[in-house]
Amino acid sequence: MSTKRTGCGVPRAGAAGTEMTVYGWVDRRRDHGGLIFLDLRDHSGILQVVINPETAPEARRSAHGVRLEYVMRVHGLLRAREPQNVNPRRDTGEVELYADDCEVLSVASTPPFPVNEETEVEESLRLRHRYLDLRRSRLQRNLRCRARFIAALREVMGELGFTEIETPMMIRATPEGARDYLVPSRLQHGSFYALPQSPQLYKQLCMVAGLDRYFQIARCMRDEDLRADRQPEFTQLDLEMSFIDEEDVFTVLERAISTAWMSAGFRGTISTPFPRITWHEAMARFGVDKPDMRFGMELHDLSEPLRGTGFRVFADALAGGGVVKGIAVPGGADLTRGDIEGRLLDVAKTFKARGLAYLWRRDDGWQGGIVKFFSADELEAIGAATGAQVGDAVLMVADQPAVVAAALGALRNHLARERSLADPDALAMIWVTEFPMFERGEDAGQVTPLHHPFTMLHRDDLGLLESDPLRIRSRAYDIVLNGREIGSGSIRITDPTIQERVFAAMGIGAEEAERKFGFLLEAFQYGVPPHGGFAAGIERLLMEGLGEENIRDVIAFPKNQQAQEPMTGAPAPVEEAQLSDLGLQLRPAAPALRIEPSHGGEG
Ligand code: ASP
Repeated sequence: MSTKRTGCGVPRAGAAGTEMTVYGWVDRRRDHGGLIFLDLRDHSGILQVVINPETAPEARRSAHGVRLEYVMRVHGLLRAREPQNVNPRRDTGEVELYADDCEVLSVASTPPFPVNEETEVEESLRLRHRYLDLRRSRLQRNLRCRARFIAALREVMGELGFTEIETPMMIRATPEGARDYLVPSRLQHGSFYALPQSPQLYKQLCMVAGLDRYFQIARCMRDEDLRADRQPEFTQLDLEMSFIDEEDVFTVLERAISTAWMSAGFRGTISTPFPRITWHEAMARFGVDKPDMRFGMELHDLSEPLRGTGFRVFADALAGGGVVKGIAVPGGADLTRGDIEGRLLDVAKTFKARGLAYLWRRDDGWQGGIVKFFSADELEAIGAATGAQVGDAVLMVADQPAVVAAALGALRNHLARERSLADPDALAMIWVTEFPMFERGEDAGQVTPLHHPFTMLHRDDLGLLESDPLRIRSRAYDIVLNGREIGSGSIRITDPTIQERVFAAMGIGAEEAERKFGFLLEAFQYGVPPHGGFAAGIERLLMEGLGEENIRDVIAFPKNQQAQEPMTGAPAPVEEAQLSDLGLQLRPAAPALRIEPSHGGEG
């Protein structure tokens, strides 16, 4: 059937006068003065087909009842359109196919939403009929760009000397910090595989194996709360390298991402090298560990100039070991008291700030309810430190450093969105380095790794492991693009003594470490090269590259916010017999939020 097939989007004026066969879906139908005009669509584009009842009565008969989304074969003669009929918005707009033979290959019911245009459609409906959603042009484009991007990544990685290695999907749990998806074992009742949260331990074992440079376009599964840029299954460019340090990892990622970005035809250009900023600097200047560098409005420390202030709220915070910081909102003199004490204060409060102090800098000087508490010198210092100009507002938070950073960091992002401060065409790709090794754990006195427990510590901070683990810098790094975390990696621990001490800091004793990671520790006894790596989220890169806000729009068959797939109705109950094979018995559960598959499957 396909040997003589011409793609609907292919014919151009140069081919006029030739005969061809096209296959596709009916995108539009118009009946006009006895003629039938069909727009036929396939993945390559749309071609106008003309059926003339006088010259092609057979074709006319076949096309008689044809409706939208019918699948057809049309054979005919390609002709140039009259100049006045040329459609400049379509690649095939200079030609049309005069049918002499048509065949309906498949009829179609009226689709639940228009396939032939990008109208807004409720997402649940789109997901339920995903095959129709994918037939539309935007998702077609997204999936093709995705494929090009991944193909280009594979190519560069090969050029850079990496070997693609597939690691198993059914594994022992990997500690990436999320909940595992589990697969019960039929042969060992009571035992479970986990689906990989990442190939972390396997790729480290590949280094022990002497494979030197590993990569994989790896599917990862994490059972965690979903957000606009998070899915239970997602894909990473996962890599690991031996005998390297941070610089080598950075060079590889910069090259791979910028090259594949270009090959995929994504918007803009990624310039390399990516600027670098330490975690400490990011927190100090932007209040967050994934700063959006497309705009300024940085946080400025006002603690020193205001050390002796008569403004009680600030003085108390400083006396209690806190800090005072502020941001200057460009043009913020237009913010009303209601704006600040309403929605902006709400943002600050979400991040545990108790209040939001503010001043306006106007032509005639500083204004605002708290102006009276500050001396002229202090006001001048606030202006100098924040860089506030006439016409700006200064927003300030006084509290413990972490609260101040979080509240002002969130306000900075919020205001940038509200006031469109970020250039939407800009691509600010950066490295954030030297993340803290640990954060406070759920149990008092315990710490958990910010990245994962195999991350190497900063050489200078090894001594703090037992005394002050929260102050330890790690050799972990992230890539951040326009304020979104794109991926993370680290140089790994290869010294068993350090690994043991890290486990101990986490409250994992020798016996538990042996039980969970004994295979890794054992492998390390047989000659482990120094190594490190990275994993970059393919979907998040695609979102930025394609300008999509929703991660589901760059995945062919995504899950919804409840981790369900509305089309097939997964997850779904299974037969009792399957459970008993697995040695499982269900506990009576609260009625689950269940969805039906789109064509009433067997439940
Ligand atoms: N396995 C890590 C992750 O998925 C990445 C890495 O450390 O290479 O975030």
